[in-house]
Amino acid sequence: MAGPDPGALKRLMTAIAEDTYRTAGETGLSELSPSVLGAIMDVPRQEFVPDGDAASAFDNRPLPIGHGQTISQPFVVALMTELLDIRPGDKVLELGTGSGYQTVVLAALGASVYSLEIIPQLADAAAKRLARLGASNVHLQTAQGWDGWPSQAPFDAIIVTAAAGRVPPALFRQLKPGGRLIVPIGEPGGHQVLMRIVKTEDGGITEERILSVAFVPLVED
Ligand code: SAH
Repeated sequence: MAGPDPGALKRLMTAIAEDTYRTAGETGLSELSPSVLGAIMDVPRQEFVPDGDAASAFDNRPLPIGHGQTISQPFVVALMTELLDIRPGDKVLELGTGSGYQTVVLAALGASVYSLEIIPQLADAAAKRLARLGASNVHLQTAQGWDGWPSQAPFDAIIVTAAAGRVPPALFRQLKPGGRLIVPIGEPGGHQVLMRIVKTEDGGITEERILSVAFVPLVED
């Protein structure tokens, strides 16, 4: 399949830089790291959107992927990835595989990604897509993710790509000391805040509010 139009990719990277700058007062981040931006440039987003949307794949906005779900806005994927502070070899849990785009961005940074998706049709489509793209170090399962993935815990980092009313309690337990959890918290269709939660080395917890966001709802148990 054809790669992205270089102009479209360049415009996307400019849009991400502009959003980073515009939100720096809230996020505290005036730039994203070269490794994260490199992963965004390397992962072919056109492969993760419905065929009819390939021309919009490099627009900096979410797109529908069917079943009422969306592939997140590239800036938000980049920001969440940055906040996870991925190091090669990190074991990462994702709730909400969706298209598998965020999954592959994390794997591109050298993480081993364990991703759960509750909608079987999306999970199957993502599995086929990732196999076709030859993605390695990704482990997908069709499951309700509210209880995390206990048999694979603990994780260096956990990302939730749907908005929850509260932090699923199991996720904090499944984080290693020093581990990072990124989760949008708030009402479906209402006010949501992206939270960064860190489990300290002594098992304590720190919480930061990062940015107002709009995500599809996490199905709670
Ligand atoms: N990260 C995805 C974005 C997916 S949108 C991407 O890059 O494409 C959020 C996804 O979370 C949807 O596919 C939705 O079905 C899934 N989801 C919602 N609640 C869930 C739950 N409790 N467990 C697992 N997946 C869930």
